[in-house]
Amino acid sequence: MDLHLADRTVLVTGGSSGVGLATVATLLEEGANVITCARRPDVLEKALADLGAPADRVLAMSCDVRDAGQVRAVVEAGAARFGGIDGLVNNAGQSRMLGLDQATVDDFRDELDLKFGGVLNVTGAALPHLRASDAAAIVTINAVLARQPEPRLVTTSAARAGLLNLTKSMASEYAPDIRVNSVCLGLIDTGQWRRRFEADENGTLYEAFESDLAADRGISLGRFGRAEEVAAMVVTLLSPRASYVTGAALDVCGGVARYVA
Ligand code: NDP
Repeated sequence: MDLHLADRTVLVTGGSSGVGLATVATLLEEGANVITCARRPDVLEKALADLGAPADRVLAMSCDVRDAGQVRAVVEAGAARFGGIDGLVNNAGQSRMLGLDQATVDDFRDELDLKFGGVLNVTGAALPHLRASDAAAIVTINAVLARQPEPRLVTTSAARAGLLNLTKSMASEYAPDIRVNSVCLGLIDTGQWRRRFEADENGTLYEAFESDLAADRGISLGRFGRAEEVAAMVVTLLSPRASYVTGAALDVCGGVARYVA
């Protein structure tokens, strides 16, 4: 199915790894132009080079999404280079492993700075360009944690719940010009999990760590998701083919979500 994304321009935050990098790759396969950013320019450049990303269809810049000035610079450079912005994927981020007994008020503030501040900075800067597009869409990457909190991820779970609510408001307020949806992830095999595995390493193979955790968490499909599987859903939601989908929160979680909603 043609997703009608050829020659459209999409900004993907956090494009150097995991879900962001897979989304960049999928968009390029669909013929889109991509603007992307991450804090470490060397890692970003290497990831795009390894991907074989065509230089004439990608603009990559270093940027921390928490810094409104850096975000504006990326958005304006991208819009000038490609003549506008049609899509946005709010992906940049990471989770924090903290229980309620450890988390301080500052930990919660830091989460909000990233999960709210980062999304508000990027969305606000891209908004005039998205409004000028004839088929604009935003996808915000979220987590099943927003509706199903985990005990050792309290700050992330709470911030994710707020972000789900905020994204719903964006869908109402930006309609009918811009469709806005959330994609809620379960456990996806990316740099985040590899880093946690390395931190806990005790001679176990990553594959065994992953399948044990999948069983422990009760993932129906019995495994972690792959970044490409998330990217496929994200890019479908960006496509004009999804023209009647807005305000939705779609789980890509292999069945780990237990809620009915
Ligand atoms: P990765 O760690 O593989 O990639 C994260 C990307 O975001 C990197 O490109 C990183 O680059 C960038 N990034 C992180 N912080 C910032 C920042 N402040 N400003 C700009 N870029 C930033 O993570 P995943 O692919 O696993 O995660 C992608 C999203 O999905 C995140 O929001 C994450 O919280 C969410 N998620 C992931 C789950 C999973 O199981 N993997 C589960 C639920 C949600 P750099 O470090 O150079 O800035």
